[in-house]
Amino acid sequence: MTIPDSRPPIPDISLELFPPRTPAGWDKLPTLLGELATLRPAFFSVTYGAGGSEQNGTYDTLMKVVDQTGIEAAPHLTCVGSTRNHIAAMLAQYREAGVRRIVALRGDLPATSMGSGAPGDFRYANELVAFVREQHGDHFRIEVAAYPEMHPQAAGPAADFEAFRRKAEAGADAAITQYFFNADAYFDFVDRCARANLTLPIVPGIMPITNHAQLTRFSAACGAEIPRWIRLRLEQLKDDKPALLDFGTEVVTRLCQTLLAGGAPGLHVYTLNQSEPTLRLWRGLGLNL
Ligand code: FAD
Repeated sequence: MTIPDSRPPIPDISLELFPPRTPAGWDKLPTLLGELATLRPAFFSVTYGAGGSEQNGTYDTLMKVVDQTGIEAAPHLTCVGSTRNHIAAMLAQYREAGVRRIVALRGDLPATSMGSGAPGDFRYANELVAFVREQHGDHFRIEVAAYPEMHPQAAGPAADFEAFRRKAEAGADAAITQYFFNADAYFDFVDRCARANLTLPIVPGIMPITNHAQLTRFSAACGAEIPRWIRLRLEQLKDDKPALLDFGTEVVTRLCQTLLAGGAPGLHVYTLNQSEPTLRLWRGLGLNL
């Protein structure tokens, strides 16, 4: 007789990393991967270009993930700063290395070209998705970005939704959202997708709350709203790290519970290369630890 596993089912979880930027960061990577691998994510993703990271950093991090953990890893690819030939070469290199999944993005623009497409051969992410499909058919599973609170440079909510639709119709398999703290923004976006017959899974992106100044800076840049009640509490707790972590864990755990209970197909956690906030979240959610 098998004893039924009473643990809750594991949702489709992915964890995002960035390539370490310092020798000390590389030294810590094996420990970080060891701790995060205990969470049994479906895959890790590795950013590209964000914060000045280079392609080699993305590739090397990706290889370390696969070699050490045996868990699938997906590189992010961006239009910004890449020609058609360069992207073709990166795709060939990733395919050669056994990669089956990528995250296709426009990338963040230099301040001088804000409000327009990326300078380069591909201006928007839908063109990159179409190129990957044209070159590699169904070899890669393609994830794209989604913005429940609207991308900050979009002409408006309708135009931004059309941009998302173009990515889906170009062949994206799934989407990962920008982070948000208001579950209704996510549910509204999912409803709009359903009404538009876009059936791809929309996985919420989750940002652990660990640092008041950093979260404020990120949120201003990416257009994520920090609700007033959270902002005020964080301001109050900013010099009391343990209390801020407790509060942040409570808020984000509750958000994830609401999202999963409301039908979110999984969670994509922006780990910022720290294991403890994600481990705390897992404990809060009663996931597989
Ligand atoms: P797009 O879907 O191309 O949209 C960009 C903007 O252009 C939107 O405002 C959209 O409404 C508008 N738009 C789209 N098509 C058109 C059109 N035809 N005409 C006019 N306007 C249009 N950045 C990095 O540099 N590296 C990373 O590794 C990285 N990882 C990320 C991971 C996730 C899960 C997310 C959510 C974001 C990530 N980003 C990363 C940030 C992302 O690159 C930026 O948010 C970027 O500004 C937009 O990328 P996108 O792929 O959503 O672009």
